[in-house]
Amino acid sequence: MSGSVIIAGLGPGDDRLLTHEVQEALAEATDVIGYIPYLGRVAPRPGLTLHASDNRVELERANHALDLAEAGRRVVVVSSGDPGVFAMAAAVFEALARRRDPDAHDIRVLPGITAMLAAAARLGAPLGHDFCAINLSDNLKPWALVETRLRLAARAGFAMAFYNPRSRSRPHQFGRALDLLREECGGDRLISFARAVTTAEERLLTVTLAEAVPDMADMRTVVILGNADTRRVGRFVYTPRSAG
Ligand code: SAH
Repeated sequence: MSGSVIIAGLGPGDDRLLTHEVQEALAEATDVIGYIPYLGRVAPRPGLTLHASDNRVELERANHALDLAEAGRRVVVVSSGDPGVFAMAAAVFEALARRRDPDAHDIRVLPGITAMLAAAARLGAPLGHDFCAINLSDNLKPWALVETRLRLAARAGFAMAFYNPRSRSRPHQFGRALDLLREECGGDRLISFARAVTTAEERLLTVTLAEAVPDMADMRTVVILGNADTRRVGRFVYTPRSAG
């Protein structure tokens, strides 16, 4: 008999933000596949095999999951946050698209709380009006495309959430992104840096674009840029419900 693949989101960090549905899937799994730090959040138990992998080999991981399911295993592929946001769900479907009979596979995607929503809740309501999410990593797309999207999103008046803002292998790009945003939005625009949200290392910082420097972000930070109306009230940041 054929097994199943569940692609599950673990949420931003705090176990209380893991859904019941994902907890049930993990309790019933025979195999869990994921990037090493995410596997650390899955409790080991007899009968459960944990398959740790490198973050860059998404398609390999997806194929491994489909192969195990074909061999009858109940596989859960884990991502942090939501699995459909810059994560494993799309990779599994890319792998599935290359298989002969896609509907023969039992596949489900279970949502999780994505980083930008956990961060927005901590900050107040910076995504209270129209917004977009942009992955600043150029691992899977050219940097020129990132710049085009930043410019057009700024001109369209969106608030923005930036995932993967900075890494050791890309030390200069986030600075370029900040320069471009200052050019498009001006120096007064509010920008928030939310690091390791809902974990013990959580750190929140809101400054103006003029004050923002690349060091304020790392790979555990999601960055939220307000729109032209975003403002502070007390210690909170919010974007009004109306615009224009
Ligand atoms: N699927 C994940 C995103 C994976 S991309 C989700 O839905 O959240 C990895 C990026 O997510 C990180 O570089 C960072 O920008 C962001 N991120 C993930 N967890 C975070 C957390 N707890 N706090 C802040 N940012 C986080």
